Amino acid sequence: MTQSTTPPAGMPEKIRHYIGGEFVDSVDGDEFDVLNPVTNEPYIKAASGKKADIEAAVAAAKQAFDEGPWPRMLPRERARILNKIADIVESRKDELAAMESFDSGLPITQAKGQAARAAENFRFFADLIVAQVDDAFKVPGRQANYVNRKPIGVAGLITPWNTPFMLESWKLGPAIATGNTVVLKPAEFTPLSASLWPGIFEEAGLPTGVFNMVNGFGEEGFAGDSLVKHPDVPLISFTGESKTGQTIFANAAPWLKGLSMELGGKSPAVVFADADIEAAVNATIFGVFSLNGERCTAGSRILVEQSIYDEFVERYAAQAGRVKVGLPSDPATEVAALVHPEHYEKVMSYVEIGKSEARLVAGGGRPEGFETGNFVQPTVFADVQPDARIFQEEIFGPVVAITPFSSDEEALELANNTKYGLAAYIWTSDLKRAHNFSQAVESGMVWLNSNNVRDLRTPFGGVKASGLGHEGGYRSIDFYTEQQSVHINL
Ligand code: NAD
Repeated sequence: MTQSTTPPAGMPEKIRHYIGGEFVDSVDGDEFDVLNPVTNEPYIKAASGKKADIEAAVAAAKQAFDEGPWPRMLPRERARILNKIADIVESRKDELAAMESFDSGLPITQAKGQAARAAENFRFFADLIVAQVDDAFKVPGRQANYVNRKPIGVAGLITPWNTPFMLESWKLGPAIATGNTVVLKPAEFTPLSASLWPGIFEEAGLPTGVFNMVNGFGEEGFAGDSLVKHPDVPLISFTGESKTGQTIFANAAPWLKGLSMELGGKSPAVVFADADIEAAVNATIFGVFSLNGERCTAGSRILVEQSIYDEFVERYAAQAGRVKVGLPSDPATEVAALVHPEHYEKVMSYVEIGKSEARLVAGGGRPEGFETGNFVQPTVFADVQPDARIFQEEIFGPVVAITPFSSDEEALELANNTKYGLAAYIWTSDLKRAHNFSQAVESGMVWLNSNNVRDLRTPFGGVKASGLGHEGGYRSIDFYTEQQSVHINL
């Protein structure tokens, strides 16, 4: 057995649901295989949830909300438990990252970073609920008005397979911090790290029934769909593909549920001739090849000003060729195995499409020495036309499209020329241009001369097909709470 086929320490025997404080199998006993992305061999079974399992989980969460202590505890008391959760996540960081890397194919060093970020998410929302202030409005001598902020009920949390544990924490943190109870439906490709949540929450003292989890698929009749359609779940926070977001939007409509949608992207990185080219090359390499390119905010379209285009493409292709492809467990690895053979086939099909649409300047296939598993060479296409599929469609792998532009107007037109609008990266030393371009670009987030570094206080979300609503800072608190106005005659 090689290092990557040996399951990491602490592996459960099987992945089960967690309902009302107990690990349970599916009511119908159904299970599915979870694959190791390095071999594509099944390495563990997971319970496959359906409507009956969701009903049990929602009933447990509702009972904990209606009768349990959690929604009625003071913010400071809840914050203490959230901080304990963060401490435990941090203390188990290595174990957690090893599991995440084994299950998802993420490089181990990057999985460790994501585990640290998960701990930080709980700390951040612990601080925020204690510091929460709400407005009071006074009309002197006539009326005073104030706001009651209340948890809403059972929140349904549906998450994708890229950085699964961290993205789960990004929803779990604010949902429970604000006093709600939850049912989490982790992604079916990567359920392993989520199986650690019950132990972490129990050790931290989270009351029984606040956290519930049902594993399995999303489609009609399965866990995800049943959660969206459950009448006792007033909130759905979803991260995943734009198409799935549309389905969930329609399915939640009859109940007018609160929806937060963090969806797909095809984000532009715009490099002007006056930029620090070395910094731009390094950052745009990181922007599309870190996390195996399976990053919603990946700068997967690089737009480069004509006067530096040839030099940029040459330097970029050379650097992409030096990105170290390796086993997920190897600390030297920068790009490892994609999550699942289905996703590998999708990414490889785009590599073939790209060959017919543009000029291949790096990668373009399977790296040598990797006979099994979902390995793809860091792949770079140049001279990509805006109507090319590799310019328009989210590939979600280590594949990037480079396109030249000749003026600020053309750069903006190209940047906005997709259905998505999640992130944009702008590289220029002209501050006026930088700020004006940021204002005009259709994206929820802009990074100016900067890599994808988050400040958890800022709104996170996309426009157009990239999402609906924002999470982050007080926007998360707003999403997970009801704000009731109280008016008093004086
Ligand atoms: P996906 O939409 O296929 O699945 C996401 C989750 O939804 C899974 O848990 C799945 O089981 C569930 N699901 C599927 N169909 C459902 C249905 N009808 N009802 C309820 N649940 C359903 O997405 P994915 O392939 O797991 O993730 C990759 C996508 O996520 C990419 O498009 C990426 O850009 C996006 N993403 C966005 C962000 C962001 O913050 N904007 C972050 C990470 C990933």
